[in-house]
Amino acid sequence: MKILIYAEHKEGKLRKIAFENISLAKSLGQPFEVALIGGNAESMADVLGKYGAEKVITFKNAALAEYSPDGYAKVLADAIKKQNADVLLMGATSTGKDLAPRVSALLNAAMATDCTEVKVDGSDLILKRPMYAGKVKATIKLTSPVKIVTVRPNVYQAVEAPASAQLESVDVYKPDFRSVVKEIISGAKGKLDVTEADIIVSGGRGMKGPENWHLIEELASLFGAANGASRAAVDAGWRPHDEQVGQTGKTVSPTLYIAIGISGAIQHLAGMSSSKYIVAINKDPDAPIFKVADYGIVADLFEVVPRMISELKAA
Ligand SMILES: Cc1cc2nc3c(=O)[nH]c(=O)nc-3n(C[C@H](O)[C@H](O)[C@H](O)COP(=O)(O)OP(=O)(O)OC[C@H]3O[C@@H](n4cnc5c(N)ncnc54)[C@H](O)[C@@H]3O)c2cc1C
Repeated sequence: MKILIYAEHKEGKLRKIAFENISLAKSLGQPFEVALIGGNAESMADVLGKYGAEKVITFKNAALAEYSPDGYAKVLADAIKKQNADVLLMGATSTGKDLAPRVSALLNAAMATDCTEVKVDGSDLILKRPMYAGKVKATIKLTSPVKIVTVRPNVYQAVEAPASAQLESVDVYKPDFRSVVKEIISGAKGKLDVTEADIIVSGGRGMKGPENWHLIEELASLFGAANGASRAAVDAGWRPHDEQVGQTGKTVSPTLYIAIGISGAIQHLAGMSSSKYIVAINKDPDAPIFKVADYGIVADLFEVVPRMISELKAA
């Protein structure tokens, strides 16, 4: 079973999920190659090699320097055919969500998204993925010759396994783009993305307003964590949408998720219940968040959070 891994990168840096998927492919004991589109191929191939990539195929065309939904999909679909790959592995990131169905449609290939477990059983690929906002965990098998799989970031660990990556460069004709990205307006540059963070400090409506968010930011910075938010906080305009965790936001799997003033609605849980440890701070002892929390503090957050901050500063 030959696997092609799409190495996603952003702002000139490879995303962690690329390394996680390399480690996953290695653990499956299947042959794999890595596909890189745009970006600085030479230096990125070196980094991919640190995680065990032995072959990196880079697709060159100036028009592909920036992400193009149909352009990248066409290149990946052609690459799967040319490399005789059976499986395309990519991250269940915003780009993965956009790209995977396009490749799947071009190849008429079955697709499983947001997988939290990938196994090989003989010639079968067995996948586990949450469904219905996390209420059900389905075990599925894709039966088409080519299979498209997106894996939830932070589920598999990226393990360094140095190899010297051989770089193969493929010149591609300019695909007939139907959509072209003209401009990317990014939020705060260098901000840790919730999907890649090992620790997330999230706030909800209980924060009362944006003027109190410095508490979340301070606690997050002391933990080296990313800032997250519930939809209530995002809809109120207190926080940007890229911080929203949940069914209509991002799905996260950090080691530690701290939910502050968040009730734990099913749509929020859908995005964070696969976190390894969950800590909830809420003044309502019956808040549903306590049903999924490993540790709970029933208290007024405006008393507890400043205390946590001063204790951490003193430590
Ligand atoms: C189709 C659909 C999709 C959705 N997608 C998402 C999604 O992606 N993400 C998401 O988060 N939601 C989503 N929602 C909304 C979701 O149903 C909830 O409305 C939302 O999660 C509530 O946010 P919250 O917990 O911050 O606010 P609330 O439910 O209002 O909870 C606030 C909590 O703060 C506590 N609190 C208040 N004051 C304090 C204090 N001083 N100290 C300690 N605790 C305090 C309260 O006890 C309460 O539990 C979606 C809803 C729908 C219908």
